[in-house]
Amino acid sequence: MAESPRVLILGAGPTGLGAAWRLHELGHTNWRLLEASEQAGGLAMSVVDPAGFTWDLGGHVVFSHYQYFDDLLDSLLAEWVEHVRESWVWMRDRFIPYPLQHNIWRLPPEDLCKCFDGFLEVHKALAAAGPAGVPKPIHFRDWILKSFGQGLGEVFLYPYNFKVWAYDPARLAVNWMGERVPTADLRRSLHNLIHQRDDVSWGPNARFRFPLHGGTGAIWRALANRLPKQNVHLNARVTRIDSAAKRIHLADGTTHEYDWLITTMPLDDTLRALSDRPDLKAQAGKLVYSSTHVVGIGIDAPAVPSLKTKCWMYFPEPELPFYRVTAFSNYSPNNVPVPGKQSSLMAEIAESPDKPVDQKTVVEETLRGLRAAGLIAPDAPIISKWHRRLEHGYPTPFLERDSIINPVDRELKALGILSRGRFGAWKYEVSNQDHSTMQGVEAADFILSGSLETTYYEPETVNQKDKRPLPARPKVKG
Ligand SMILES: Cc1cc2nc3c(=O)[nH]c(=O)nc-3n(C[C@H](O)[C@H](O)[C@H](O)COP(=O)(O)OP(=O)(O)OC[C@H]3O[C@@H](n4cnc5c(N)ncnc54)[C@H](O)[C@@H]3O)c2cc1C
Repeated sequence: MAESPRVLILGAGPTGLGAAWRLHELGHTNWRLLEASEQAGGLAMSVVDPAGFTWDLGGHVVFSHYQYFDDLLDSLLAEWVEHVRESWVWMRDRFIPYPLQHNIWRLPPEDLCKCFDGFLEVHKALAAAGPAGVPKPIHFRDWILKSFGQGLGEVFLYPYNFKVWAYDPARLAVNWMGERVPTADLRRSLHNLIHQRDDVSWGPNARFRFPLHGGTGAIWRALANRLPKQNVHLNARVTRIDSAAKRIHLADGTTHEYDWLITTMPLDDTLRALSDRPDLKAQAGKLVYSSTHVVGIGIDAPAVPSLKTKCWMYFPEPELPFYRVTAFSNYSPNNVPVPGKQSSLMAEIAESPDKPVDQKTVVEETLRGLRAAGLIAPDAPIISKWHRRLEHGYPTPFLERDSIINPVDRELKALGILSRGRFGAWKYEVSNQDHSTMQGVEAADFILSGSLETTYYEPETVNQKDKRPLPARPKVKG
C-alpha cells in the first residue's frame, strides 16, 4: 500500500461523508470526495418546497449502535428536538399500538380468533417437533408462518410486508432481520387481551432526536461544511471506472486517479460503470431493489387531534397506497413555514416490477387515502403537494443476495475498490444512517491501518444492543 494512498470517495451521503470525515480527522489529506448532485446528504438530505415546507426523503429517525456516531452528531448540531418513539398501525378503521402482535386484542373478533388460531398452531408445531425444533425457515414468508402462524400472517404481516418491500415475502431471506422484527409471545398477547391493555413499544428508552432546524439533512450539511472545501466536489457525476488504470471518468470529461476507491453509489451503478470488467458488469442486473415515492402534504391548519403525539403509522391494508405515514410537523415545529398554525404529513409508497405505481396519480391517491384514514380534516386547506421518486429506495434482502454480493466484494477489493453504504453494500440490515456513516468511517480505517470493517462484515455484531466504541487509531501523516 502506498504510504499516503490517494483515496477517492464517490457520493456525499452519510457513508461518503463519514469516510471523508474520518480521513480528515486522522490527518490524512490525500483524498477527494465527488458527488453527482448539487448538495450533500444523499438519501438523508432534506429539501424545502416552493411553499416553504421542509421534507426529508422519507421518514428518517436517528437510531444509533455506535458511541462514535452519537459523539459526531453531538458535535455537529446544537439544537435538537427530543421525541418519544410513538408508532401505530392503522387498520380496520382504527389505530392499534405497534407492535401489532402484542395488541391484537384491539382487532375485530374474527381477526383476533384467526391470530390466536395461528399462535396455537405455532405452539403445537413446536411441541410436536420436540428437542430437534421445527425446520429452519427457508424464506421470510416461511419465517412469518413458523413464528406467528397463518392468522397474523394473513391479517397483518403478509399484506404489510408486501406493501413495504414491494415483493412477496417469499422472495426475501431471513438473515437480515436481527433486531428489526419483534417476535410473538402467546402469553403476553393473552394477558393483554384479558386485561384489555395496550402494550406499547415506546418505553422510557425509546426516544429519538431530530434537528430543530433544517430537517434530517441539516446533520449532513453540517458535516459536509466541516470538510476542507478544496477536497469536496459537488456536481461531479462519475460515468466510468477504469479499474486496471485505477482511474475514474466524470460526465464533464475530467478524470481522477486513485489507490483506493470508496464508492457509495448503488452497487449496480458501480458495476455498470466498470468499463473493463464485463464479468462484474454482468452481475448488476441481478441485484433486486425497490423504489420509493415520498409524498408530502402541507396543510394550512394544525394536525388533527388524533395525531397530536404520534410519530409515524403503518398501513397494511391494500386499499390505501402508502405503507407508512410520518406526522412530520410533530418532528420539529420548523418543518412548516408557520409553526403552530400549519402541519405536514409525509407518506411513503414502495414500487417494484411486482408492484407498479402510477406516477401521475400517486399524489392524489395519497391525499384521498390520508383523508379516508382521518389524518386530514375534511375542510383543511392543502397548500403544498410535494412528490419525489427515489429510484433506489430499499436494498431488498432477496434470497440470492449474499451469493452475489460476497464474491463481488472480494473481486472489487482486490481492485482497490470498496463499495459501501446503503446501496453500495446492499445490506439492508446495516443501511440506516448510523450504519452508513460507520461503514464510511471503517472503510477509511481499513485503508489507513488494515482494521476489520465490522459493520460491513459482521452486521450481527454491530446490531447487538450495546453500543460499540471505535478502537482508537493513531493519527497519520497526510
Ligand atoms: C424511505 C427511506 C427511509 C429511511 N429511513 C431511515 C431512518 O428512519 N433512519 C435512518 O437512520 N436511515 C433511514 N434511511 C436510510 C438513510 O437514508 C441511509 O442510511 C443513508 O442515506 C445512506 O447513505 P449512503 O451515503 O450510503 O447513500 P446515499 O445517501 O444514497 O448517498 C449516495 C450518494 O452517492 C451519490 N451518487 C450516486 N451516483 C453517483 C455518481 N455516478 N457519481 C457521483 N455521485 C453519485 C448520490 O447522489 C448520493 O448523494 C431511510 C432511507 C429511505 C430511502
